[in-house]
Amino acid sequence: MRAVSVHRDALVVTSRMWQTTATAIRSGGEAVLIDSPYFPDELEALAPLLAQAGFEPDGLLASHGDFDHLLGRLAFPDLALGVGEPTALRLRAEPGAAQRELRDEDDEHYVSRPAPLSLGAVQALPVPGRVDLGEVELELHPAEGHTADGLAVFARGLGLLVAGDYLSDVELPMISPGGSLADYRATLARLAPLVEEADTVVPGHGSPHDRATALRILDEDVDYLDALERGEERPPLPDGRDGKAQQRLHSENLRQIA
Ligand SMILES: [Zn+2]
Repeated sequence: MRAVSVHRDALVVTSRMWQTTATAIRSGGEAVLIDSPYFPDELEALAPLLAQAGFEPDGLLASHGDFDHLLGRLAFPDLALGVGEPTALRLRAEPGAAQRELRDEDDEHYVSRPAPLSLGAVQALPVPGRVDLGEVELELHPAEGHTADGLAVFARGLGLLVAGDYLSDVELPMISPGGSLADYRATLARLAPLVEEADTVVPGHGSPHDRATALRILDEDVDYLDALERGEERPPLPDGRDGKAQQRLHSENLRQIA
């Protein structure tokens, strides 16, 4: 797990698993943690790491309902988990699904955990909407397409966009069950003006980018979605996202939109 300071008031922690990011933002003595790392040792190290850096969170947020973004409560079992209303609906409609998927993934990688995942009383937030954090406002923007739910957090005052599973430098656009190509396109179109106003963009998986890099990835993603929509079996994939796993992901995408 590595921690990178992307702003005086924002710290990004990146998991060894899928380069999953967790972003801590602070203002006026308050802090929030968006998404989570994966491995038990990373989750155990998270509270002391954030406390030492001055980012002790008062609340948790998840960008969407995929299990790999919901693990914050394993590090902070006393904090409430905030999610967008569509994510709250999804979690309610599929009770135990996140826990099951986590167990399956753990099983796959021989990972054992000290405690099972409990989401507690999930707090549903309107999207679009706003959350106050100390002296700044966090804007919640809808971000569907990867899944049926999803939000992006724009901390305008910090020039920071936390995009959820979009604009990744390590993963192609992924159309999961519940997601859709049309919604994915709409989300990229919605994120574009926010990226233009951001100094830093944090994807759900991969490295924090500067604006120019995020805009380049956004263009690559639009091109990729065009190729996907045309049903191309072997489209040229963007640099760094053209390995075997991403080719498999592309095949999954083709099946998903068929
Ligand atoms: Zn993810």
